[in-house]
Parts: sequence; C-alpha cells; structure tokens
Amino acid sequence: MTQALTVRCKLIVPINFKQKVDETLVGFADACNQILAVAKRDNCWNTTKLHHKVYKPTKESTGLKANHVCQAIRRVINQKKATKQIHKFRPTSISLDARTFKYIEDKQQVGITLKEKRVNFDLKIGGYQIALLRNQTPTSATLSKNRQGDYYINIVVEVPTQPRNKTPKVLGVDVGLRDIASTSTGKSWDGKQLRETRAKFARVRASIQSKRTKSSKRLRRQRLSGRERRFQKWVNHNISKQLVEEAKNFGVIAFEDLTGIRQRAKVRKSQRREHNSWAFYQLRLLTEYKANVAGIDLILVDPRYTSKTCNCCKVIGNRNGKNFSCVNKLCGWVGDADHNGAKNIAGVAGVVVNQPESSTMFCSLEETVLGLKPPL
Ligand SMILES: [Zn+2]
Repeated sequence: MTQALTVRCKLIVPINFKQKVDETLVGFADACNQILAVAKRDNCWNTTKLHHKVYKPTKESTGLKANHVCQAIRRVINQKKATKQIHKFRPTSISLDARTFKYIEDKQQVGITLKEKRVNFDLKIGGYQIALLRNQTPTSATLSKNRQGDYYINIVVEVPTQPRNKTPKVLGVDVGLRDIASTSTGKSWDGKQLRETRAKFARVRASIQSKRTKSSKRLRRQRLSGRERRFQKWVNHNISKQLVEEAKNFGVIAFEDLTGIRQRAKVRKSQRREHNSWAFYQLRLLTEYKANVAGIDLILVDPRYTSKTCNCCKVIGNRNGKNFSCVNKLCGWVGDADHNGAKNIAGVAGVVVNQPESSTMFCSLEETVLGLKPPL
C-alpha cells in the first residue's frame, strides 16, 4: 500500500532567474485562459478533442514548450471537473510533469523546464522533506509563487505505508491549553513555551496596533503572525512525531473531534487568545499523515464527557483545574485531568477499534460508555 503525499519545498531562485520563472508563470496562465476561452466557446471538455483545437495556436502565441501546453490543457479540464465554474487563471502556479521537472537527490535540486530553457534550482528543505523524497522519482509537481514573492515546488510522492497491526490497542490523546497534548500512557507536552511566545507576539501586536501608520502596521503584523505560525507548526510537528513514535506500540491513535470547540468550550478572556482550535486541528492533521505512513489508524472521538467522566468507573466526576477526582466512593480515582481525558478517549476508541472501515472513524462516549445508546 502506498499513499500520495505532497512535499512542499522552498525553491531558491537567484535574482537573475526570477524574471524567467515569472515569464513562464505568465505564459502558463495565458495558455490556460486561451484554452478556457475555446473550451467554453465550443463547449468542449474532452482532453483529446480540446488538444486538437488549441495545441498549435496556444503554443505559437505563448511560446511555451510542448509539455507546458499539454499541462495547461489538463489544468483547464481538471479545474472544470473540480469547480464547475472557472474564474480567470492567474500567473501564480504551473503544473509540471516528468518531462518538465526532475528531482535531483544527490544535489537536493530540481531541474525545471522554463519557457526559455531548463534550469536547476536548489531546494531549501529540512530532514523531514529529505526523508520523504529519498529514493523517489516523482513525476508530478506544481511550481508556485506566493504573495510575498517566494517560490515553492510541491512535489507529489508515493510513500509506502506499513501494514496495519491486526490486533491494535489505542493510544488516547487529549489536547488542551496547559498541556498541548497528554496521552493515555501519562505522557504530556507542556504548552508553556508556546503560550509564552504567543503572549509575547500578542503584546507586540497590541503595541503596533496602537500606532497609527497603516502600512507599517500591516507589514509588521504580517511578519509577526508568520513567525508565530511557523513556531506553532514547529511545535506541532515535534509533538506529532513523538505521538506517532509512542503509538507504534499500539496500532491506533485516538483524538477528540474538536470541530466547533470554540463554541463549546468556556475559557477565561485572557486564555481566549491562546485558545486556538486551529492549532489543535493542525496537530491532528500532522499526526494523521505521519500515522498513516507508519501504518497506524487515527480515530476521532466525540469530546463530550471525555473530561468529565472517570476513566475507571465511568461516573461523572469533578474536574478541578489540573486535577480530576472521582465522586464514586467505591472508585475514588484521583489524578491528572488530562490523563483522565486521554484514558477516556482511548477507552471509547477501543470499542470500535476492531471494525476499521476507514482510517478516520467517529464514535462517542455518550453512545458507548454511558450507555445512552447501545454500544456498536
Ligand atoms: Zn471512578
């Protein structure tokens, strides 16, 4: 089994080549727009038929290479399939195939066919990207330029996935404000560093906002939020790596489904700023794709009751800040609240673990443990 992954790599484009890359981007967008006009006029959305109509005139008028024109035709047709309504194409990206790009592993470069000629560019990538690209001969990629004027290449690779564990156990993961993640095995990742960085950025933002110059405000705010975002992603990247490493002893990893957490959770005003459901979602996504490569399934659990219920006797207990204490005198479990939550998440997920229909499933403590509905 393999899984297609997109590896996003920053491309180092020397200043004297920027114009050549931009020319190619503009040419590709022009080609797409010309092809789109013909396709609309003749109501023709078949690749072969459209190719006959547009190939020659498009190649002549744009001066692009043959394979760029072929990719432009594909882009138009795929866009039509994906969105029905097609807007105008803008010169922000170009589709590449085996003839127009090559990954050169020993130099960490990519060769890209531009409008004028073939050029090799250095990649600015880290260990994770290098590992995904190892021994790969990718045949599909997209070259793009963002608003800041940076160039990226998104390379599609097929990564082998490990065979699934036949008798899996579940590692439960509780995400929170104080600790970013806590597992049912009792491990946790402190959010202190992330909170402090966020608070610092928020203070700087507040002082910038108090100044009146509009342009400097916008500029600096963008830069800060970018740094903040990158720091958060770096933190989540590290945690997800360790979570998946831990989950290798289990076979399944379970998260709460926090869609809509912002509406449900009650947080103090000072915490609200930190309470970023996107950060949790990102942690889940990063974990999910690393887990998939490692042959580990990811299950989503309904978050209701997971923090209120005692993991031991399933009675609703008291959560007091960092601590949980069970009110059931026969049980009396006392411990870390996040650890309790993670154990509940693992427990709920464990119920459905042996019916893996898909990699992402959904189940609920309400339905299984509290017995409000019959267990699956
Ligand atoms: Zn209990």
